[in-house]
This record gives sequence, C-alpha cells and structure tokens, in this order.
Amino acid sequence: MTGEKLRKIFGKVTDWVYPPLCVSCGKPGAMICEECLSKLPPVGEHFCPTCGKPLKPRHYCRHCSGAEFPFRSSRAPYLYEGPVSAMIKALKYDGTISLVPELAKRLADFWQELRWGIDLTVPVPLSRERQAQRGFNQSDLIARAFCGKTGLECDPRALMKLHETLRQVGLSAGERRRNLSGAFAAEPSLVREKRILLIDDVMTTGSTFAECSAALLEAGARSVMCLSVATTPVDHGKQKLLNK
Ligand SMILES: [Zn+2]
Ligand SMILES: [Zn+2]
Repeated sequence: MTGEKLRKIFGKVTDWVYPPLCVSCGKPGAMICEECLSKLPPVGEHFCPTCGKPLKPRHYCRHCSGAEFPFRSSRAPYLYEGPVSAMIKALKYDGTISLVPELAKRLADFWQELRWGIDLTVPVPLSRERQAQRGFNQSDLIARAFCGKTGLECDPRALMKLHETLRQVGLSAGERRRNLSGAFAAEPSLVREKRILLIDDVMTTGSTFAECSAALLEAGARSVMCLSVATTPVDHGKQKLLNK
C-alpha cells in the first residue's frame, strides 16, 4: 500500500474519531458543511465593471471614483462575509489548506463566465518573511489549484514581494497604496508581452492588485486582469445615483 493511500485511510479514521467541525457554523462532519456551502454570499448581477464591487442598479461606483487602477478589470464571485470569510480566515490564519480545492473549484466555475484571454496566471505573492512564518501562500495554493482546473498556466516566480509592509487593516486606500509602493517586482523574462491574470484570496480597496499590476506592467506585461475569491462589501448608503 502506498504512503498516500495509508494517509488517506488514516485521515478517514481520525475524521471518524474526531470529526472536523465546519469552520463557519461549527457543526461536526466536514471542514465546511453543505448547508454553509449553499449560503456563500454572491456579489450579484450588479457590479462595477472595473473593480467588481457590488453596485445598486443605476448607481456609479464610489469605490472607483478618484482611484486610477492600472488593471483593466477585477472580479470576484463572492462577498467577503459569512461562510466565505470563515473559509478564507480558516485557510489563512489556521492553515486549513484542505479548503483550497473547494475555493479553487468555485473560482474555476466563475471563470467559465469570464473567459478572458489570458497568457499567464500569477498569484499575489507574500514577502519571504511572511511566507516562512505562515508556511504557505494562500493565493499561491488557490491559483495553482485554479489552474489545475481551468488549464491555464501558472507561474508564481513571475512576481515577488520584496519586503514586508505594514498590515493594511485600518489604513485608507491612499495610505494602502503608499504602504505598498515599490514593494513588488515582476520578472520581465516571464511576463513580457503577456496578458496576466492576477489571483488573490480577498480584494479590499484594490491597492494590492493595483501595486502588483503596476509592477507587472513595468516589467513589460501587456495587460493585467484580477480575480479574487471574495471582495469586501461596500456601503450601499454611500453610493450615488447616476445623473443626479
Ligand atoms: Zn456549516
Ligand atoms: Zn468600481
């Protein structure tokens, strides 16, 4: 019997003795239960064509006004709330990498609607220090599994994060861009003349996608499109009606 088979059987036995608890509702049985999977919050059919944030019909995107994004478009299937945020947090902070196939499958299903012309997929990198600390890069794992399902080419060597930056939580969009400025560098021999698909777990203000895109374009990439599993919700009260 191969080690792989033994590990699978052993995994099933330990699952039976200590069933995994759903990372979202805590119910025993699976890392994420069927009920929570059926309630992943979608972005919906009204969204900004540039940043992918949900929009009320006939409203313009406050998120994009004033922001000059170097990428052409950014999209996400889900809002970063409920079971989706529970899954991403469990992956990122508790190392529950067994959630990667489910997240990648859902991203690959979403990709079937987009079908952008892409030459190379690149995950948003972590700095060497952060990656060593965490032991993995969640975006890298998601991007590889996504490419396994879609047949797209993936090359994590194409983009590097040169140094660790301040945590982005609590910073405004402008502060985030300044914080990340010059933090990324792309490998010209891998990205020149290519249409790049950048992949991350969550899009918040778009400053990480923006800085990564700027580095890729500077290294000669032809264009950059962005895809994340989730995007943080926006305050609909702050959206403005068009023509008013
Ligand atoms: Zn659940
Ligand atoms: Zn927008």
